[in-house]
Amino acid sequence: MTRASDESFAAQRRRMVEHDLAGRGIRDQAVLTAMGTVPRERFVPADQQHAAYDDCALPIGYGQTISQPYMVAFMVEKLHIQPDNVVLEVGAGSGYQAAVMSRMCRHVYAVEIVEPLAESARRTLAALGYDNVTIVCGDGTLGYPPSAPYDRIIVAAAAPTIPQPLIDQLAEGGRMVIPVGDRSIQRCQVCTKRDGKLQVSDSIGCVFVPLVGEHGWR
Ligand code: SAH
Repeated sequence: MTRASDESFAAQRRRMVEHDLAGRGIRDQAVLTAMGTVPRERFVPADQQHAAYDDCALPIGYGQTISQPYMVAFMVEKLHIQPDNVVLEVGAGSGYQAAVMSRMCRHVYAVEIVEPLAESARRTLAALGYDNVTIVCGDGTLGYPPSAPYDRIIVAAAAPTIPQPLIDQLAEGGRMVIPVGDRSIQRCQVCTKRDGKLQVSDSIGCVFVPLVGEHGWR
């Protein structure tokens, strides 16, 4: 990659942070800093790089998408990530959102069900030296028991209901953000675990690809 295009990606990234994120009400400085740092162009296919900082989701192959930057910022902000947190992401996709969160916490475990996407996310993260992210290939509706409990859980695909294994693997006092609804439209739910029970509050409408798997859409 030439120096000139690196510079123009940096300029586009700054514009995204100022205009599409801060300009639309994202206030958490840690989120803005992380998204101002992670090179989104590295997480999209080569033929989508020109659109890496556009205000929309983009195809990443296998019928899947990298989420719109605003949606990433919104959900990650709702998660209230602390520097010592261990985070579980379900639906790693390109690895972009995992990369953003990895700048804000101790470790991210990100589960992806499509093997080639998991492989590609792993390669991208390794090339960037983001060594506090572990990409796991498997059904994330089962969570990832080996590293549970998690301080934070974020689901990047649309669930019919909140998978019980994720509730079980969320630490007491932990937070979870998950889109819940039907296959075409969902509401983003923000959940806190208190006394073993999930307290759920609703935020905004959203559109995600379906969460498949044992506790997802069959
Ligand atoms: N967070 C991603 C975008 C995710 S798109 C990014 O930053 O690029 C949603 C992803 O969830 C898709 O890659 C899809 O394959 C994956 N997915 C769907 N059901 C899943 C499941 N049960 N377990 C793990 N991943 C799943």
